[in-house]
Amino acid sequence: MIELRDVRKTYPGKHGTEFAAVDGVSLTVAEGTVLGVVGHSGAGKSTLLRLVNHLEVPTAGRVLVGGRDLTALDERGRRAVRRSIGMVFQHVNLFRSRTVLGNVAYPLRLAGTPRAEARRRALEVLRFVGLEDRARHWPEQLSGGQRQRVGVARALATSPKVLLCDEATSALDPQTTREVLELLRRVNTELGVTVVLITHEMDVVRFLCDQVAVMSEGRVVESGEVYEVFARP
Ligand code: ADP
Ligand code: ADP
Repeated sequence: MIELRDVRKTYPGKHGTEFAAVDGVSLTVAEGTVLGVVGHSGAGKSTLLRLVNHLEVPTAGRVLVGGRDLTALDERGRRAVRRSIGMVFQHVNLFRSRTVLGNVAYPLRLAGTPRAEARRRALEVLRFVGLEDRARHWPEQLSGGQRQRVGVARALATSPKVLLCDEATSALDPQTTREVLELLRRVNTELGVTVVLITHEMDVVRFLCDQVAVMSEGRVVESGEVYEVFARP
């Protein structure tokens, strides 16, 4: 479903040098897998995620999603691919001036879905995340966990095959974290969505992930099945 081939992303460094945030990463994520990406702050995890949905264009290498080579697309094509990939962040950033329903329907409206159809679909995803009864509420009326579930609903609205999560539970307490993780598990098992998540919590990896990739200084230094990697000395 996702394939990275020798991907490199550099930024201008000090004194005209180049700094590689992602430095030669090759990675394959099979359809239906949950991959956890772990590593210290600054290891390149967020950059890797942004390369997968093409918010960043690689300096070198190739990024394939669903068999399509994103590196070969123009901006219009990249935008279409981005719509086919859901993204969940640590801080949800819902529009305060829109209802829960309006927030979830928003990406559909952006994609040109007619209003009535967008609302129908938004209600359907809200039902999936267990918040249908909150559709008419305002974001500020929700708890942190509910807001994060709305974030997941918004990411799912366009029926993506891939969901990328950047520290989606890092700002949540243990109980709420659990709720969101259980939801992400259902997204994977019931909807068949391939999930890639960044986390610094090993419990999250153990609970949710099939595969894990450990990043350090822009490289994947260790990867494989979770039970296998954790069993290594
Ligand atoms: P985190 O540790 O939570 O991943 P980061 O320190 O990586 O946070 O940075 C968060 C955001 O700031 C990212 O979107 C990243 O692209 C951007 N960023 C980080 N470092 C720089 C930098 N040196 N110049 C410009 N943007 C940066
Ligand atoms: P992580 O998510 O593992 O914390 P990031 O991918 O956010 O790591 O960042 C990796 C490195 O790349 C960091 O040193 C960060 O400062 C740098 N970086 C990230 N985004 C940018 C950017 N837009 N411009 C310059 N440097 C960046």
